[in-house]
This record gives sequence, structure tokens and C-alpha cells, in this order.
Amino acid sequence: MTAVTVIGAGLAGCEAAHALAKQGIDVKLFEMKPKRRSPAHKSDSLCELVCSNSLRSNKLDNAVGLLKEELRMLGSLIMECADQTAVPAGGALAVDRQGFSALVTERIANDPHIEIIHEEVTSVPNGPVIIATGPLTDGALMADIEAMLGDSLHFFDAAAPIVSLESLDMSKVFRASRYERGNDYLNCPMTRLEYFTFVRALVEAETAELHEFEKTKVFEGCMPVETMAKRGDMTLAYGPMKPVGLDDCKASNGKKPFAVVQLRQDNSEGTLFNIVGFQTNLKFPEQKRVFGLIPGLENADFIRYGVMHRNSFLQSPKHLAATYALKSRPLTFFAGQITGVEGYIESASSGMTAGIELGRLVRGFEPIDFTRKTAIGALAHYVSEYNGGSFQPMNANFGIMEQLPDAPRDKFRRYTALSERALTEMKRIITEEELWK
Ligand SMILES: Cc1cc2nc3c(=O)[nH]c(=O)nc-3n(C[C@H](O)[C@H](O)[C@H](O)COP(=O)(O)OP(=O)(O)OC[C@H]3O[C@@H](n4cnc5c(N)ncnc54)[C@H](O)[C@@H]3O)c2cc1C
Repeated sequence: MTAVTVIGAGLAGCEAAHALAKQGIDVKLFEMKPKRRSPAHKSDSLCELVCSNSLRSNKLDNAVGLLKEELRMLGSLIMECADQTAVPAGGALAVDRQGFSALVTERIANDPHIEIIHEEVTSVPNGPVIIATGPLTDGALMADIEAMLGDSLHFFDAAAPIVSLESLDMSKVFRASRYERGNDYLNCPMTRLEYFTFVRALVEAETAELHEFEKTKVFEGCMPVETMAKRGDMTLAYGPMKPVGLDDCKASNGKKPFAVVQLRQDNSEGTLFNIVGFQTNLKFPEQKRVFGLIPGLENADFIRYGVMHRNSFLQSPKHLAATYALKSRPLTFFAGQITGVEGYIESASSGMTAGIELGRLVRGFEPIDFTRKTAIGALAHYVSEYNGGSFQPMNANFGIMEQLPDAPRDKFRRYTALSERALTEMKRIITEEELWK
């Protein structure tokens, strides 16, 4: 059987190589470390966690907890090594960073189907390949991918937080677009006092540390909301929070608002909204605390926090199928953060999917549709089918999954029901489709 090339031995590449090997396929796994490193990678091990050692929630009422459980059902190498190297972290799964990477490295190195080659790949090879080189992909390989796609890889250095619609206090939020151009936006009106309290909290909030390589890029083209607020107390009121064109909008004192925060729909289902103009570098708990001062957002669920770092990703809805294969080159697959999934476990999830699907393709089997009932399938469908405005990276969340026909109103019960259905669906796929046959 033809050997398959996997480029990049991070979360996605290691999971993909393991899924291919599990199907009896020989894999050449290229990793440029230790000869060359991105500015964020420090260790010589495979599957390095470049920042936090938390893989986030481990509970089934949380979509990333569900994603983990689905990966476990599929025999994920990443989950097996994470569970074995877990450290106490409440309801989250955090790992001993070095122990985790060392265990993945050992498992990959001892797999008779996988050959690790410590070389930088500088062009997209012909033949079956999975490109899993991460958000910091650069140099010759990046140039070749761009030439192949006729597209510049989106260079993204700031994102505003995304909240779920159902977590908003709609008694304080108005639906309207400025100047009576429909009612597409959600508007959170503020009194004068609420505005100045918010601005004070924003300028005093703690920001996340920026990596050296990010500093020059970050502040050229986009300005974090906290930086804007530091320019003057009224900067936001004349900028993204200007209260104009919203005549029906009333603040909590019943008067015309002093300032307005707008939320824009972020997915076609209308379950997720981003905070317009609020790209930020605040630490995640600070985002929850400070943005929680916005009327209507007191108990908001942050599906994705605002982040600022370099993040190159494909315009996947244009280029990828839900198998993570290129529509224009069926043997060329992508996996990991470069496809527009966001996060460690999401990257492993796309690596698992790409590994299974490419393995089936070279073995002559039909692809599998993981469906939007599973978290793994919902991510794959999201990145390949998103049809909203600008495509931005996405964490696992219940908002992108197929909704339940008679969903319980209570959020905990609804999320648990979505998880139960997902695990039943995954079990069906594994048995009915004879996944590993
Ligand atoms: C600064 C920063 C902080 C982050 N913090 C977090 C966080 O706290 N939590 C979180 O969930 N996510 C975080 N992320 C996102 C994180 O990058 C992903 O979640 C995850 O690491 C992506 O996995 P991946 O396999 O796609 O890429 P990576 O883990 O980056 O792996 C890519 C691998 O490919 C190798 N490679 C690259 N180019 C080549 C080449 N040409 N030839 C051969 N090998 C190559 C690299 O050396 C690397 O080992 C952060 C990202 C950045 C940049």
C-alpha cells in the first residue's frame, strides 16, 4: 500500500499519523524541530503544547468535553496520553506538559508503521499527504501552499470574543441595525455611568503577555479595544460604541443611550454573536469580568475569547471538503489549526478526521460523514461549509452542532442531551461504518 506523508508533528499531525497507522498504512512523519523552530516552539519533543497546559473542560455539558469523549471512542492517541499524564485541574483536563509530549513522542517513535523524519518540508509533495504545520506555518512551504491555492493564507492577529445568544439577558438587549437598515445587530445600550465604569475597568484590566514575535505585527493593522480606551475616556463612545442611528434603543434609565455595544451574528444558525470592534488582548478571566459589565452580557458564555497572536489559516470553506481534503486535489489533506479549527483538542480532532478519511481513501473505502450531530463532525462541517461574512477560526461549541428538535429549555439539560445524542451517533458510526475495517 502507498505510504502517506504527514507534515508537522503537533497535535494534529501526531493524531493523523496514529489514525493512519491504525489502518495499517505506513506513514512518513516530517517534523522540522529541532533543526528549525517556530518562535513559539521550545522543546524537542513532538506534540508540544505551546502555551497553556490546559486542554479545557472534561465534562459532557461542555462541547470540548464532548469532543474529548468522542476522540476517546475513536481510540485517540492524544487523549490516551493526556489522560495518562493528567494533573489535578477541577472539571478541566490539564496535563503535565513535558510528560504529555514525551509520552506522545515515545508512542509515535515505537509505532512500526511510522517513520519520523526530522526535516523541514519546503513544498507540497505529490501523492497522499496531510499538511498539519500549525498556525505559525511560514517560509517556503507557506509560499507553495499560497501558490497552489491562488490565495494568500489569511493572516489573522486579533479576534473579538464570541458569546452564545442564549446566555444573553435579552431584556436589556435591542435588535436593530443602525439607521433603520434592518435588525441584524444586537445592541447593548449603556447609561453615562455604565459607560465610564466600563471604560475604567477596561483600562485597568490585566492584559496577556505578547510573544516577542507578535509585538511588531499586532499593533500595525488592528487596535485592541483596551488600547483604544487608553487614548481617552471618550474614544470608544466616538468609535465602536457610538450611540448613533439607533433611535428606538433605550438605556436602563429609559433614556437615549450614552454608548452602545453591538453584537454581530457569527454563524448561519444565529446562535453565536461576536462583539463588534472588541478585538482584545485582555487575559481570559479579565474578558469575562470586564465585558460582563456590558448590559445584557452579565452571564454571557464566552464561546471563544478574544485572542491576539499570529494565526495563518486557509479560507477553508472555499478550499476544503468536510473530510479536510482539498476540493481541487483529493489526495492533499490539511489538519489542525491551519484549517481554521481553534485549540489543542480541536486540532487533534481534525487530525483524527483527516487521518481516518485519507486512510479510507487510499484503502479504497468511501469517506465517512461524522455529521453535525457529533462535535467532531460539526467542526469539520463548520470549517468546510461556513457561509457567513469573514471566516474566522472556531472552537468546539454546541452552537455549530445540529440542534435538537425538542430541545429542553434548561441549558444544562440541553447540552447534556446534545452530548448524549452525539455519543450515540458516534457509536453508530463506529459500528455501522466499520470505521477501522
Ligand atoms: C502563541 C500561541 C499560543 C497558543 N495558545 C494556545 C492555548 O493556550 N490553548 C490552545 O488550545 N491553543 C493555543 N494555541 C493554538 C495552538 O497553536 C493550537 O491549539 C495547536 O497547537 C495547533 O496544533 P497543530 O497541530 O495544528 O499545530 P502545532 O501544534 O503548531 O504543530 C505544528 C508542527 O509542525 C511543525 N512544522 C511547521 N512547519 C513545518 C515544515 N515546513 N516542515 C516540517 N515541520 C513543520 C512545527 O514544528 C510543529 O511541531 C496557541 C497558538 C499560538 C501561536
